[in-house]
Amino acid sequence: MHVRRAYRYELDPNNSQKSSLLRHAGVARFVYNWGLEQRLIQYKNNRGNERFADAMKQHKLLTSLKKTHFSWMYECSKCAPQEALRDLDRAFKNFYRGLKTGKRIGFPKFKRKGVHDSFRLYGIIRFEGRKLQLPRIGKVRVKEKKENYHGGRILSVTVRKRADRWFASLTVVEEIPDPNPIKGPVIGVDIGVKTLATLSDGTTFSNPKALGRRLKKLRRLSKSFSRKKSRSKNYEKVRLKLAKMYLKTFNIRQDTLHKLTTYLAKNHSEIVIEDLNVSGMMKNRRIARAIADVGMFEFRRQLAYKCTWYGSQLVVVSKTYPSSKICSSCGHKKKVLSLSKRDYVCEVCGLRIDRDLNAARNLVTVSLPETQTACGEDVRLYDSSGIMTQTSEKQEPNSSHRS
Ligand SMILES: [Zn+2]
Repeated sequence: MHVRRAYRYELDPNNSQKSSLLRHAGVARFVYNWGLEQRLIQYKNNRGNERFADAMKQHKLLTSLKKTHFSWMYECSKCAPQEALRDLDRAFKNFYRGLKTGKRIGFPKFKRKGVHDSFRLYGIIRFEGRKLQLPRIGKVRVKEKKENYHGGRILSVTVRKRADRWFASLTVVEEIPDPNPIKGPVIGVDIGVKTLATLSDGTTFSNPKALGRRLKKLRRLSKSFSRKKSRSKNYEKVRLKLAKMYLKTFNIRQDTLHKLTTYLAKNHSEIVIEDLNVSGMMKNRRIARAIADVGMFEFRRQLAYKCTWYGSQLVVVSKTYPSSKICSSCGHKKKVLSLSKRDYVCEVCGLRIDRDLNAARNLVTVSLPETQTACGEDVRLYDSSGIMTQTSEKQEPNSSHRS
């Protein structure tokens, strides 16, 4: 089986490479903004009657302008502008898809210098010892020392600046053996803010202590940041410090999630999770909550591809299924359950159980075929890429949803 895998390395560029990286990021940003402006002008001139130009047309126009207007772009790989226009195209497509499906996805925005600086390159990208050969930029040392940096063919590299550090994400095609279906138990997973994950067998994964400490610091720092006057010297200092701290916090979070998703995918035949509540997420502005939300997306993304790798199945249960209100022992459904109650107490059978554990157990029940048809709840199955493939009411859940 061929799989696409991403490998991320931190770069250790020398000064001239640093300026080349910045130049590439600058070209990508300029072209993205240029493309966006062109589309807005076109839209205005046609009073909305004509669709925006696509990336191909725009790239042709850009190439013709390069000779006369943007000759400074020749210093950079031609991939950087091309990929920036593709990204813009994608941003517009997402926006339109959002309009159709009723999801609120913002209109593409102009990029600002120093905010998410990045660019993508194709072509000859390979490791030579500890150095990564990048088109136009040259051989850049990576910080991590390894015997083998990856085991496949590199398709592309995305270079990003985070705080004051540079990272290269390689997309690599690898050949891995087809996995045998895992013969482990079915497990339900409840993901939360306080406890990271509660499994239906009683296992819990807590957030690392370092994360809590960092969140406190982040809160303090972001408060002081919002009081600073923009463009002052202090503003830039605090901005960099804040960016560094965000990066560290996300790295800690990422490590924990990888451990959790690997454990789940390697040891269980079926993993049942609840769908994400996207609209509820966007409204929340608290830092701890925001990071937990990003973590949930990441959790599902990792779990989806790891299930394909290791041979387990991912089942996603609709948000409309009241997993926290139902008693996992007798099936009684409460009308209301306040969020502050940490324990679930059943007034019918007398069960007293941790709220998250009760929810996780219900997820397992809902994935079993007999209860599915019995209660007629909306259970959806997803393939490895997280795309919905079928609903349970039409087909047997264990038949054809594996890709
Ligand atoms: Zn009960």
